[in-house]
Formats: sequence, C-alpha cells, structure tokens
Amino acid sequence: QFVSAIIRSPDKNARPLALSGHVGFDSLPDQLVNKSTSQGFCFNILCIGETGIGKSTLMDTLFNTNFENFESSHFEPKVKLRAQTYDLQESNVRLKLTVVNTVGFGDQMNKQQSYQHIVDYIDTQFESYLQEELKIKRSLHNYHDSRIHACLYFIAPSGHSLKSLDLVTMKKLDSKVSIYVTIIKSLSSRSVGWLSQANLITCTIMLFQGHLPFAVVGSTEEVSIGNKMVKARQYPWGVVQVENENHCDFVKLREMLICVNMEDLREQTHTRHYELYRRCKLEEMGFRDTDPDCKPVSLQQTYEEKRQEFVGELQRREEEMRQTFVQRVKEKEAELKDAERELQGKFEQLKRMHAEEKSKLEEKRRSLEEDMSVFSKRRAASELLQAQAFNTSSNNKKDKDRKK
Ligand code: GDP
Repeated sequence: QFVSAIIRSPDKNARPLALSGHVGFDSLPDQLVNKSTSQGFCFNILCIGETGIGKSTLMDTLFNTNFENFESSHFEPKVKLRAQTYDLQESNVRLKLTVVNTVGFGDQMNKQQSYQHIVDYIDTQFESYLQEELKIKRSLHNYHDSRIHACLYFIAPSGHSLKSLDLVTMKKLDSKVSIYVTIIKSLSSRSVGWLSQANLITCTIMLFQGHLPFAVVGSTEEVSIGNKMVKARQYPWGVVQVENENHCDFVKLREMLICVNMEDLREQTHTRHYELYRRCKLEEMGFRDTDPDCKPVSLQQTYEEKRQEFVGELQRREEEMRQTFVQRVKEKEAELKDAERELQGKFEQLKRMHAEEKSKLEEKRRSLEEDMSVFSKRRAASELLQAQAFNTSSNNKKDKDRKK
C-alpha cells in the first residue's frame, strides 16, 4: 500500500527515521498542483520582427486562437511595444498570456533606437517587480508579473547571415531573456536542405543561447488532407502542413515553448534573468552581501554606511557651496571695487574738466569786464568831449548874436 524508505539527507545533522505508517505528506506534490491550478499561471511572450514578417499569424497558430491583431505600417517613427493580455483556459488550467509585439521594428533609419526600446521595456518590467519586492507591504501573490519569459525572434528566410540589427539586438537581449530564433515563412531545414545556406545564421545564433533556429510556417487556415482538415499553407507548388514535422519545425517550437519548457522558462526568468537585473541594480545602489574581507554585511550595516556616506556627501556639497559662495562674493566685491575705481576716475576727470572750463570762463569774464570798463571810460570821455564841443559852439553863437 504505502512505501516508506529511509532516505539519507545531505544534512549531516538530520537523523534519518523510518515511518511505521501513513502520515500524508506524500500529498505535497498534489497540494502544489492544486494550489497552482487554482491560482492560475501567467506567461509573457515578446515577439520581435519586422512588420508583416508573420508574428501575429504564428502566435494565432501556436495558441490555436485569434488574438487581436492591429494593422501597422512600415512608416512608424519609432518602435512601440504593444502588450495585450488574454485569459486562456485549457482543461482546468488558466493562463494569463501577454503577447508583446514590437511595432515598427527595424523600419527606422536610426537602428539603435529599435533595440533600445526593447531593452528598456524588458528592464522596466524587471524594475516594477523589484519595486514590488522591495515594498514593506508586498502583494506578490496577486501582482501581475509582466516580466518577459520568452522572446520569439523572427527572421526572414533570406539564406544570408543575420542583419547587423538582428545581431546587435540579440546580443543586447542575451542576458535578459530566453530567445528562440524563428525563421518564419520557411520550410524545415531538413525538407529543403537549406541548412548549408543557413549555416551562417545557425552558427551566429548558436553563439547566443545555444538553441538551433526553428524554421516554421504559420497559418490558421485549414486544408483537407486525406479525410481530415489540417492547418496548412497552400502554395502553387503544393501544400505545407504546419504540424507536419517533415514540412516545418512548428511542432518542435510548440513543444519547446509551451508543452515542455513553459514552466522552465518562467523559472529561468526569475532565477537567472531577473536575478541578474536585481543583483546589478542593488549593487548599483550600494548594497552588497560581503565586505572586502568576505565577511557578511548586514542590511543595517549597509544602511548605516550609506547614511554616513550620504551625510558626508551632503557636508562636502555644503562646503563646496559655501566655498563657491565666498568665491562669488569676493569676485563680486572685486568687480564692484573696479567699478567704483572707474567711476571715481571718471568723476575726477570730469571735475578736472569742470575746473578747467570754469577757469577759462573766469578768464573770459575778466577780459570782458576789462573791455567793458575801457568801453565805459571811452564813452565817458566821448560824452565829455561832446558836451565841451556843444558848450563851445553855443558860446560862439551867443558871441555872434551879441556882436550882431
Ligand atoms: P506581422 O505584421 O508580423 O504580425 O505579420 P502577419 O502575421 O500579420 O503576417 C503578414 C502576412 O504574412 C499575412 O498575409 C500572413 O498570411 C503571411 N504569413 C504569415 N506567416 C506566413 C508563413 O509562414 N508563410 C507565408 N508564406 N506567409 C505567411
């Protein structure tokens, strides 16, 4: 009925004991399943690829549904990330699926902005989670985790190597998310033997995350094959069945992404990519686990050190500001003194000019007064002479009259 075994624990201090009857903790895995099922799951996929490459069609094909599709043009001024969240249910398992689409990717002249927006988006989701984690009152159990769990990177089956934008974008995202490269609108490598052509692509991708690219075809349309309807794409030269492993790698991609690895991807996002973001962010903020002598450092210690550092920095800034202020005052004082000296000089010069002008005028006045007194004297003399002349002539007249 029940199997009890003595299992040696790796912990040397723990003593192994055999059970003599059923206890019930063997139901823990079931409890875990029940808990997870009742809570539901969430999964976030980021689709990167040019407009019209086939992102929406592949998502519809992968999840056997019709997601909301928005038409977008090749003339977007910048890359926008559009996130749509859907509630899906399969049997009794609920999945909150978020599909994030890169609208306008690779359509701009400045290619750097294309990947920068994506990198920023992924970091923003990590940051939101970190902020929630750092809160005193955390509510992670009902927090909508928007961290990206998987990235489907779509490339066209050109047969050439990857474009430099693809290489740079993948390099930037390599440490932030699990990337699955999807060569869309392409038959499986085996069926058409283009592996030799795609060797360059393959090698480049292997350098990143070690996955082989998936050569897939997406379609939600059904075509009758034999006596059943299958998802397929009809070409003038024949029919490509989406779920036929001899035709394309769609089934492999679905297995890898959904059936086998979905939980692993969720876990990797948390334990690898988010952990790296969190570590870098906390280190950037000055937190660390050990001191230079490898002794553990408590949060309290770090806080105290940071506070001291902050107070020290504050004092340094205050001193710097004070010095700057004193310097400015000195400069202003010197400036004012210079201006005062200049004004004084101007004043002295004006005073001198004024005195010179005054003495010149004084001189002129004196000479005018002299002229006036000479003139008055002359006038008086002339008047005297006139009077004398008049007297003489009137005396002469009187003499004449008397003689007469
Ligand atoms: P998106 O802009 O990247 O979302 O591209 P869509 O999914 O809207 O697809 C653009 C066009 O490509 C549509 O006409 C699709 O039917 C077509 N398409 C999608 N996947 C494939 C494929 O695997 N092979 C071929 N030949 N056409 C495809």
